Amino acid sequence: MNFHAVPPRRDGNPHEQTLEFRRPMQPIADGIFLVPGPKGGRFPFSHSVLILDRVRVLLDAGCGRETLRRIQAEFSPDLVFLSHGHPDHCSGSSVFSPSQLWTPVESRETTGRLAAMAERLIAPHLRDEWMSFMREEIDFRDFKAENTFSADASFDLGTRTLIPVHAPGHADDHYGFHVPEAEIMVCTDIDFTPFGPWYANEECDIDLFIQSIRLVRNRPMKAAVSSHLGVILDDISKRFDRFLACFDRRDERILRLLDRPAGLDELVDEAVIYRSFPVRPHILRFWERQMLKKHLQRLVRLGRVREQDGAFHRTVMDDPRKPAPHSFDRAP
Ligand SMILES: [Zn+2]
Repeated sequence: MNFHAVPPRRDGNPHEQTLEFRRPMQPIADGIFLVPGPKGGRFPFSHSVLILDRVRVLLDAGCGRETLRRIQAEFSPDLVFLSHGHPDHCSGSSVFSPSQLWTPVESRETTGRLAAMAERLIAPHLRDEWMSFMREEIDFRDFKAENTFSADASFDLGTRTLIPVHAPGHADDHYGFHVPEAEIMVCTDIDFTPFGPWYANEECDIDLFIQSIRLVRNRPMKAAVSSHLGVILDDISKRFDRFLACFDRRDERILRLLDRPAGLDELVDEAVIYRSFPVRPHILRFWERQMLKKHLQRLVRLGRVREQDGAFHRTVMDDPRKPAPHSFDRAP
């Protein structure tokens, strides 16, 4: 599907506009900027990307309400795409009008309504705490998006094209965005952080996540944009390798803990993935548990672990490899 509903409305060279607000933005290519989020873009915030073409586009709205207000005042983006329905990517969307906002078709029913998002994203006993977290720490406010996009879309921005790349696994509705003419791939939450991939919602899927990382890395790119690290120009291929290797490394850590059989609660106490639960411990422990469960299910499927009487056992045949050193920084 090609996008022609928004007519080119800017005259002259769309990349040549003198704008005060450009200063804090980081140019990625001609007319394409990283809009840094608070805390270096770390969770629970994220970076956005602004594309100033004949059609002006903002990718994601988790870079802080004040920054988003300035973007709206100065650029009034024609299209504001939300990469997926996680609050750290859409908390400030209410700054924009419903007609500007585009959500993935997969989450059209929930994205924008915090109560519905909580129902989708967190267990019932944690929903109130999770919603307080989102309201108090990232000022999430409900919003409405009138438009949806899907994997078969392609948006003509004037001199460039924007292609949403469906990359599920992290979330069912998770998208990256490719600008082929500029060879820029916005990889969103294939984010290359030292923490590694995150898959703690019920709908997350490790195997699908791995497939999506492979799909995204196949797009031609001179620059990769991570929602939580920013612009990556060097060693992009190695970054993908390292990010992919996290899944196996976590498997191996879990297997080493299973030198003696252990139940899921004992494994959560070990904080294999989060390392510690310094803030919102109920929520972080729940996410740790969810991710552990997905690894254990996969290891059972692969015959490396078996479950008996509520405890997980490493199978006799299994011989976990030595760990590689790794550091963690996703907080929370
Ligand atoms: Zn996410």
